Amino acid sequence: MKYISTRGGMEPQSFSDILLEGLAPDGGLAIPQSYPHITAEKLEQWRALSYDELAFEILSLFIDDIPAEDLRALTQAAYNPELFVGDSMVPVKALQGDMALLGLSQGPTLAFKDMAMQFLGQVFEYVLEKRDSRINILGATSGDTGSAAEYALRGKRRVNVFMLSPYGRMSAFQRAQMYSLQDENIHNLSVKGVFDDCQDIVKQLAGDLDFKQSMSLGAVNSINWARIAAQVVYYFWGWLRATTAAEQTVSFAVPSGNFGNILAGHIARQMGLPIARLVLATNENNVLEEFFRTGVYRPRSSENTYATSSPSMDISRASNFERFVFDLVGRDSVKLNALWDQLATQGYFDLSDMKPFFEVDYGFVAGQSAHANRVSTIAEVYKETGVLIDPHTADGVKVARDFVQPGIPMLVLETALPAKFSETIEEAIGQPAPVPEHLQHLNDLPQRVVEMDADVAQVRAYMESNA
Ligand SMILES: *Cc1c(COP(=O)(O)O)cnc(C)c1O
Repeated sequence: MKYISTRGGMEPQSFSDILLEGLAPDGGLAIPQSYPHITAEKLEQWRALSYDELAFEILSLFIDDIPAEDLRALTQAAYNPELFVGDSMVPVKALQGDMALLGLSQGPTLAFKDMAMQFLGQVFEYVLEKRDSRINILGATSGDTGSAAEYALRGKRRVNVFMLSPYGRMSAFQRAQMYSLQDENIHNLSVKGVFDDCQDIVKQLAGDLDFKQSMSLGAVNSINWARIAAQVVYYFWGWLRATTAAEQTVSFAVPSGNFGNILAGHIARQMGLPIARLVLATNENNVLEEFFRTGVYRPRSSENTYATSSPSMDISRASNFERFVFDLVGRDSVKLNALWDQLATQGYFDLSDMKPFFEVDYGFVAGQSAHANRVSTIAEVYKETGVLIDPHTADGVKVARDFVQPGIPMLVLETALPAKFSETIEEAIGQPAPVPEHLQHLNDLPQRVVEMDADVAQVRAYMESNA
């Protein structure tokens, strides 16, 4: 299994070579030269596997430069039931009719990003050890991604994490979750500014090539291929739990932002997993819904990006979308480059002539929700089933309802637990979301955080003396 760039300008490379990189050298995204194919017999053989065993089987199709016994140890460590609270690591919870939740949020930060990040943490440490190198992860977060990265990389050898977060803009729960980590390799920098200031500092430092090289700077953002590969696993897991025979199909509804989660569903479908529909759900920031409805992709500016009650889906451009478009245009890098050139010069591209194929060939359909829809969906689902869902998952449930087909299970990906977004839960049901028992004392723990101005020089100096 070798990886190429969507833009066509990278010699084929192995998994470990692309693991630590962000963009490919030509500005594109790494993608497998071809997708592995899974037969119906193989799928049946996988029914009895535990989650970590299934992860090993699937990841070994994408990773052929790590010996099998080592990869098995990495998947066992990442998908250790002790890290994922509950009776089952990835439970399927029935809702109404053919609809059910695929519970992806039992991990340490109560959001689906743990599913991929826990594997990423293990494989990072392994590859750095083999190559006798080190990495300093620099990132900015307004919540979910940063905390998932910190929990995955805490205590790992050869890795430091420097995570910038906006001072006074995080919820008490988010602060407690990140700042209570006492591991020496985790550095929380609370920056006196807004999220965009944090992001700007990261961009400036990462754009300084001398600094980047001397510090071995890296990132764990959503374009990281290992994260996508690890996410493919739970689509197979969900299908195996929702079916009893090889010819049955399942649909998945995915609350989407950067298109990382649903891209993994697309890849699972390309690998032969019998998926009927991939239902893409957005909030008011509906760049992707608009594309699947019209064929026109038009990213927005940050001024035109709304702050919503499903904040982890508030995106203006979908960083992983390029990988899907690559498949859509027949893996033709010349065509892909032309589209991205047009995006840069005119701000949009138009694939409306391919619109008939979005569902027929790829299973894609899409819809969106507004705040009022999410609040009423949370209230209805709670009243009718007793299950409490978070606002992101509510986006998925709301949109999924329009696309359920009789007799085909519809699995809505539960991307976070309600405890993280209690304000909206109170609005919906008149009481706060319960905090899982093991996190009830989180607020009492001592916090470890460094405050500083929104000043590149201060951040740089801190990193240089603490790397
Ligand atoms: C990141 C995130 C999403 C969006 O996932 P993408 O891979 O960016 O499409 C949805 N819900 C929650 C809770 C998230 O943290």
